[in-house]
Amino acid sequence: MTTSHALASYLDPANPGAWGVYLQQVDRVAPHLGGLQRWVETLKRPKRSLVVDVPIELDDGTIAHFEGYRVQHNTSRGPGKGGIRFHQDVSLAEVMALAAWMSVKNAAVNLPFGGAKGGVRVDPRKLSRGELERLTRRYASEIAIVIGPAKDIPAPDVNTNEQVMAWIMDTYSMHEGATVTGVVTGKPIQIGGSLGRREATGRGVFVVARAAAARIGLDLSGAAVAVQGLGNVGGVAARLFAEAGCRVVAVQDHGGSVHREAGLDVPALLAHAAAAGSVRGFAGGEAIEPGAFWSVPCDVLVPAALEQQIGAANAGAIRARLVVEGANGPTTPEADDILRARGVTVVPDVIANAGGVTVSYFEWVQDFSSFFWTEEEINARLARILVEAFDAVWRMAEEKRTSLRTAAFIVACTRILEARALRGLYP
Ligand code: GLU
Repeated sequence: MTTSHALASYLDPANPGAWGVYLQQVDRVAPHLGGLQRWVETLKRPKRSLVVDVPIELDDGTIAHFEGYRVQHNTSRGPGKGGIRFHQDVSLAEVMALAAWMSVKNAAVNLPFGGAKGGVRVDPRKLSRGELERLTRRYASEIAIVIGPAKDIPAPDVNTNEQVMAWIMDTYSMHEGATVTGVVTGKPIQIGGSLGRREATGRGVFVVARAAAARIGLDLSGAAVAVQGLGNVGGVAARLFAEAGCRVVAVQDHGGSVHREAGLDVPALLAHAAAAGSVRGFAGGEAIEPGAFWSVPCDVLVPAALEQQIGAANAGAIRARLVVEGANGPTTPEADDILRARGVTVVPDVIANAGGVTVSYFEWVQDFSSFFWTEEEINARLARILVEAFDAVWRMAEEKRTSLRTAAFIVACTRILEARALRGLYP
């Protein structure tokens, strides 16, 4: 017996959230899976979900408790792999969706990993550095029972960075009594990190956008690009688009939105955002309302912030020819349909932002072999893997007459469920 809404207790029918979006995406791929449909329910249930209490002493001496999660969605093709997010809105249902998208992403790019994700429900901007370190170490200690270089390998995500990975690696290593560099990726170079990892997600967005632009006959030189989110993904992508001769005409972040038809000065905007905490107040462009960002005339739109930013309410206003998803889950299924009907090509997150986890894979391999590659080698291998994965998805979409998202899910879910069927059920 199958149910179309597995783990319904996490679904509010009025707002299905990221997990509800993911379940709809699975429903769309299921008819294309042939005999593997027998296993499709596997995709609708995370293999293992851990919820932990994270108590820390604040600098003022009081005790604060935060809720933390680590979800291993699927490990049929290898250890769990996926980032850790610190955000005030993180929930178990959101982490379940993010873990599931990692399973699909890792399989779409053919990395030998399953999918996992973690998070702590906290606004890290309200913590001192010492509080952040104590939170990270206690969370790492609580999830140490399920992570490990052969079990599940965390990495950075929204509001986590190399320093947070260093604390997790150190905490895990203290438990083990030995330095275990391969337990996390996205570490500082000095302790087993990989060249190119910091920029890899944004670089991948650019590489995939270039491949997609070529397919639809869009010349990127002088093309207008709009970017939502100026973090590690959107910031790097915006810089690479500008360096390639594109006009970055609009940027939105949590603090504001700026527009300049002739193209914003991206290095100056990044410097402003780094100093002021947001693009708000940037003198080199005009401030626009958050809603107006979506209807700015552009060729390429890069949502690189959070989930469900493009929905039924704003999809009709988008003027881009190409949407390249830097974020995970930025487009709802209703918006997918609206954009497809209007001839807008959407390159899905599971291909477009796979550059980060691809270089995470390189980092994990380098840690195992204790032999480190050059940045040129890393960037060349990254581009080759992403373009091959994009081309395979493009061909699948043509063959099956589906969106690129459903095509990516066909490629990925076939790989996951073939592995599942070959391994069989235990016991
Ligand atoms: N957090 C990134 C993502 O969503 C990277 C995950 C990783 O490197 O494991 O793909």
